[in-house]
Amino acid sequence: MKKRFLIIIMAFCFSPLLFGQEIDPELTEAWEPVPEKVTPGIFPGSPPSDAVILFDGKGLSQWRKTLVGYGGSMAEVEKVAKIRAAMTEYEEQDAEWEVKDGAMIVVPGTGAIETRRAFGDIQLHIEWLSPVDPGKTGQGYSNSGIFLMGTYEIQVLNSYENPTYSNGQAGAMYKQSIPLVNACRPPGEWQYYDIIFTAPRFAGDGSLIKPATITAFHNGILIQNHFELKGPCIYRGEPHYVPHPEKLPLLLQDHGDRVRFRNIWVREL
Ligand code: MG
Repeated sequence: MKKRFLIIIMAFCFSPLLFGQEIDPELTEAWEPVPEKVTPGIFPGSPPSDAVILFDGKGLSQWRKTLVGYGGSMAEVEKVAKIRAAMTEYEEQDAEWEVKDGAMIVVPGTGAIETRRAFGDIQLHIEWLSPVDPGKTGQGYSNSGIFLMGTYEIQVLNSYENPTYSNGQAGAMYKQSIPLVNACRPPGEWQYYDIIFTAPRFAGDGSLIKPATITAFHNGILIQNHFELKGPCIYRGEPHYVPHPEKLPLLLQDHGDRVRFRNIWVREL
């Protein structure tokens, strides 16, 4: 009797009515669009087939001296935006950083460099190295920076046993977002960032529709998780958005230290 009761219960539990099997599973299959084929790089960090190669160790043809630089305060950011908007013709000057042993090296005093091409939403891979220099400390030890759209800086700094303010250490969105962890390798060792950046969106009247966001990995470790930027990454004062074009160059900072970069590529999203 007990057994028969159990069979009846089980039959009810697995009935199509209870599990909704009357719905055709094919109804929820999406066949379009078919994702475009991309051939992955050979090694982790190698550029895939659809990447724009910005530096492969051979030369600086993709780079130039920055045309307008970047702002350290909101007043400077606004000035830069005005100069950029007024620019109709310009002469490009070649980047003067050194290329040696497959790396590009900051030549202090030659200034920031930026890509000749402009980018909006991107996936970026970039490798960097802090040279060993025990005499240096804090913000003075291998400072550089990757300025997305020439505006939003992810900090490059030796943060291996080199204390500084947390929102200014390696992997910080400078003065806005502390990295989730310190994933820094010691000076003298190559390390890398993998970044997913979404550009901010502005309405026709210049008002902000959507802030810029960043997700970043440092040596494969998540350090920024879809952080919404408050505006440009500035040195002095509180940031706010200033409208800018949909695409702008990627800029690398000359902060007076001989930081090295290599294997730089982006995928436009
Ligand atoms: Mg910096």
